[in-house]
Amino acid sequence: MITLRNIVKEYDGKQDSGRAVDGLNLEINKGEFVALLGPSGCGKTTTLMMLAGLLKPTSGEILFNGKLVNHVEPKDRNIGMVFQSYALYPHLSVRDNIAFPLRERKIPKQEAYERAKETSKILQIDHLLDRKPSQLSGGQQQRVAMARALSKNPEILLLDEPMSNLDARLKLDVRDEIRKIQRNLGVTTIIVTHDQEEALAISDRVAILNGGQIQQYAPPHELFNHPVNLFVASFLGNPPMNLVQGELREMNGNQVVVTEGFEYLLPADRRLDKAHMGKSVKFGIRPHDIAICSPTDHQRIKMKVDLVEHLGSGKLVKVIDPLGKLDTMIRLLTGNEAEIESGDEVYIKFKENKFHLFDMNDNGRNL
Ligand code: ATP
Repeated sequence: MITLRNIVKEYDGKQDSGRAVDGLNLEINKGEFVALLGPSGCGKTTTLMMLAGLLKPTSGEILFNGKLVNHVEPKDRNIGMVFQSYALYPHLSVRDNIAFPLRERKIPKQEAYERAKETSKILQIDHLLDRKPSQLSGGQQQRVAMARALSKNPEILLLDEPMSNLDARLKLDVRDEIRKIQRNLGVTTIIVTHDQEEALAISDRVAILNGGQIQQYAPPHELFNHPVNLFVASFLGNPPMNLVQGELREMNGNQVVVTEGFEYLLPADRRLDKAHMGKSVKFGIRPHDIAICSPTDHQRIKMKVDLVEHLGSGKLVKVIDPLGKLDTMIRLLTGNEAEIESGDEVYIKFKENKFHLFDMNDNGRNL
């Protein structure tokens, strides 16, 4: 339904290397919920603004339903938008705020009010229609903003950090609600956020951006389990993926990752092309894919507990190499039942086939 083809955006004064958006390609299906996620300045908002028609791309094509819309005015694009600051009109009632986009389209007052009422029912704010925005809680204001964006039955809903002003608890409720409404209405939705948990929880697919380029565009579980490169792998996940510098070597017919602190034998089903031997890699493994094991386990590594943090749901254990050869600290997650204290010597092992190898000679590509 939405196609972005080779989109480039240069702001005045920003030269080639400083493109805000740099050759972006994206396809979004009808009814899909897509998040644009990435660090500050990666081009998320710029992309959303171009979809809204509030900014023009320097080059490239934006298509809605196969039709070029580069030069279509925002008001003619059939989109609804919700911004971070809901920007409700303070002097208007909730009813008039929701009806505003309809009145702008010259829809008679009575009909606009009726449609505002219908939309307000979907969002469960129909009892608030006579109030002014100042008489509402943050969550209620957020819903009014959603109702206003949805009142004209847009084909596309654009959300720019719509939950960043809500407290943590309310955020979860509103997040579920936005998803439910979106599913019921089937409106194609794009959300910009820097909150990875939010993006992964709410979206069908997530586009990870960096430096104005898409690094990976995939469903949340795929991004998490099969990151295409080091950037995606280290950007996603909290606590973050452990990354240890190493080298790939062939030893006695086995393929091994050799690091300063340990050697890890690659399992037979993960054998790599011979051409990769000798390469510098980052060995990556997520904290929940490391277990504390017995002193007799296969491929165990002896470590010393540096710090134990209680997370409520479990413990975050930071271990270091007791011999001091490996200068990287390793984080792992255990259940609350694990009796473990700083100073303990422990053995750890990596869960079967959960590791990643990032080629440091090829922009951190996942091998
Ligand atoms: P954030 O999460 O901080 O909002 P973002 O991913 O939304 O960041 P953009 O706002 O799209 O990023 O900005 C992308 C790049 O373009 C940044 O380097 C930013 O400094 C630059 N930029 C944004 N707006 C302008 C502007 N009006 N003029 C010049 N440069 C701009």
